[in-house]
Formats: sequence, structure tokens, C-alpha cells
Amino acid sequence: MSKIKMTTPLVEMDGDEMTRVIWQMIKDILIYPYVDLKSEYYDLGLKHRDETDDKVTVEASNATLKYGVAVKCATITPNAQRVEEYSLKEMWKSPNGTIRAILDGTVFRAPIIVKGITPYIPTWTKPITIARHAYGDVYKNTEMQVPSNSKCELVCTDESGNETRRTIHDFGESGGIIQGIHNTDASIRSFAKSCFNYALDAKQDLWFATKDTISKQYDHRFKDIFAEIFEAEYKEKFKEAGITYFYTLIDDAVARVIRSEGGYIWACKNYDGDVMSDMVATAYGSLAMMTSVLVSPDGVYEYEAAHGTVQRHYYKHLKGEETSTNSCATLFAWTGALRKRGELDKNAELCDFADKLEKAVIDTIESGIMTGDLYLLSSLPQKKKVNTEDFLKAVAVTLDALM
Ligand code: NAP
Ligand code: MG
Repeated sequence: MSKIKMTTPLVEMDGDEMTRVIWQMIKDILIYPYVDLKSEYYDLGLKHRDETDDKVTVEASNATLKYGVAVKCATITPNAQRVEEYSLKEMWKSPNGTIRAILDGTVFRAPIIVKGITPYIPTWTKPITIARHAYGDVYKNTEMQVPSNSKCELVCTDESGNETRRTIHDFGESGGIIQGIHNTDASIRSFAKSCFNYALDAKQDLWFATKDTISKQYDHRFKDIFAEIFEAEYKEKFKEAGITYFYTLIDDAVARVIRSEGGYIWACKNYDGDVMSDMVATAYGSLAMMTSVLVSPDGVYEYEAAHGTVQRHYYKHLKGEETSTNSCATLFAWTGALRKRGELDKNAELCDFADKLEKAVIDTIESGIMTGDLYLLSSLPQKKKVNTEDFLKAVAVTLDALM
């Protein structure tokens, strides 16, 4: 069998710990034998980030802007303990934060659904994709404690020095707390466009919800910007694609989500997305089955798994003990990137390979071969727990039969 050719490279960002081990196995067992892989490789492993003063993260992000498609392995976000463990020059920033800032993107998280693992909400038979606005609000806040008998105001000073004031609260006997948050029209517009584009791409309805009845300026601005952009740029395209844009109040959205069967994209403000993505991921079964893609407003895609580097398994692996780490989300990052590369380059063979590899992963699990995390959840009678590498080898056997 001749290998599938690629015309344009995709950006490959290697990472850390157990996911780095899996990364190499995926390429050796499931990519190289089938695809003449063209990738521009960047090593975002913590050691190399430190050696390059984290310049490698910026270079990889710029390469992603250039080529339009990237696949990323999970990476360590250093804390004090990691600074010591790796003798780091500095506590480098989160690579995902750096990439997000350069790509100006929105993160979409979608679960991989397999038979035998019933979501905690059994009506959720299709995936719910959460789109989280990754800028501003409470994540870029200014807050303080307020002593008793203090008056707190919002003050906005314009470029000519004119002040507009609003009272937040006149504190009496009891002091308290205040918080200042912001967002920008530009960021909300980027968020909206990424969501509309992703919905068109996935051919799924888009839901958006805020608390605009209570927050008549702040949350209402999100609602208005989404509505303006939809009317001006997406209404016709959605009609053609047979999908809808649906806005409702956040409380109503939560109730509808629970009653739904899934199969749509749920756009969330930053905090809602943070909380809801954890709830949705848990309800679908396992963090190891959650995919993640960062989409910029002008259509640059960076695919990854939602989970981290699975440190606990890596330490077992280092001790020579057997691991049973789930590679599904990392595999789907690869298939997502290969399919997108194929779509952009009109390379049908590459798209077809990505589809078949995903089918092979799902078929393998549904045949009863799975890693330990799924073994604990699966209701299949003939289930069998395999180690990290044997799972990938079993997928290769299934894939060979599909090719
Ligand atoms: P984690 O890597 O997501 O793992 C947490 C636990 O979840 C694991 O110990 C394991 O549970 C389970 N798990 C996650 N992925 C799994 C998989 N593929 N297969 C089987 N089980 C899986 O989170 P962490 O251990 O808290 O973080 C480790 C490092 O990852 C940190 O340095 C953090 O900075 C980094 N991180 C990176 C990203 C990213 O690059 N996007 C995201 C999050 C965290 P059991 O131990 O019970 O088996
Ligand atoms: Mg969260």
C-alpha cells in the first residue's frame, strides 16, 4: 500500500510526560505507516521551552498562523514544584495561554461518544460541544475588600479627561467586597465569529446564553454583538447549511441542555464555559475522551486533548511499571488536524484516512478492547483492559481492516 501524500505541512507541537510517550507511539503505530507525514515540528516539552526561554512556544504559534493547522500534545504549566523538578530558569507561562493570545481563539471542547459508556444524563446520545470565550470577565478582574462606611464607584475617564461615575454601593456599618471586570467589543466579536464559523464547519446548531435580563449593559452587549454579526454575515449561510442560531437566557439554556439529546454547540461566556465544560466532560464519562480545538476568528485551527500530561501514569511508566493510559483524545487531535489539513488542501485521501482512523478507535473500544479508565465505566459484557501500547496496536489492526 502506498502512503498518503500531503502537500502542505501541519504544525506539530510535542509536549510532556505520559502524553509525550503516547505522542511518539501514535506516530509510530498509526500515522507513519499510512501517511507520508509533512509536519513542522516544535518541541514544547518543558526542558526545551526552558532552553529556548519559551521562544519555541511563540515560534510554534506563529507557524500555526502561517500554515493554518496545528496539533498539540499536552504540556506542563510550571508551578513552584516544576521549577524545582526541571531546574527552570523561570516559571514560564502556560503554553496554552501564549498560543491562545497569539491566535486570538475560542476553545471548543467535544466528547468522543462510544457504545457501552452511558452518559450520566442518558438522553445525551449526541455530543455537546462547549465553546468557551477565553478572554476577560472575572479572569481579568480587579477586586478589593471594602472597610465599613465606604462609598464605592465605577469611574470611567475618557480620552478628554471627562469622568462618568456610577455608584456601586454605599457601604454602611458592614464593609464588604467589590470587583471590577471588563471585556472588549473586539474580543466578543472574535468569539462570535469563531462560534459561527465552527457551527458551519460542524453543521450543528449554535446556542448562546447570558444573563442579559439582570446585566442590561454587560451581558446584553454580548447578546447584541452576536445578533449583529449573525444578521450581517451568517444568517444566509446558516440557512443554506440547514442550521440555526438560538439565543436564550442562561437559566433557560441550562434547563434545555439537560433535557436535550445533544448534537449542538453551546457558546458560553468565560466563567460559564469554565464551569459547564467540567460538568459536561464528567457527564459524558471521562476526561480522556474530551477533545479540544482552538479556532481563531479567521479560521486557524489548533487541535489537542482536553486533559493534561497524566503525570501519575508517567511516574509509573518511568519506574518500568505498565500503564493503561487512554490515548483517544490525543488521537482525535491528530485526526482533527489531518482532516482539516485535507479539507484546506482538497486532499480527499487524507480526510478519508482521518475518518477511518476515528472509526477504528471507536470500533476497537466498542469491540471491548479499552484502557483502564474506560474499563471502569463500560457496561460491555466482553470488555478487556489493555495497556497503553496494546490499545494503539489493536486500533491499527481495526484500521488495517478498514483501509
Ligand atoms: P491530567 O493530566 O489531566 O490527569 C489527571 C487525572 O485524570 C490522571 O491522573 C488520571 O486519573 C486521569 N486522566 C487524565 N487523562 C487521562 C488519560 N488520557 N488516560 C487515563 N486517565 C487520564 O491532570 P494533572 O495530572 O492534574 O496535570 C498534569 C500536568 O498536566 C500538569 O503539569 C498540568 O500543568 C498539565 N496540564 C496541561 C494541559 C494542557 O496542556 N492542555 C491541561 C491540563 C493540565 P488517574 O490517575 O486516577 O488514573
Ligand atoms: Mg473548569
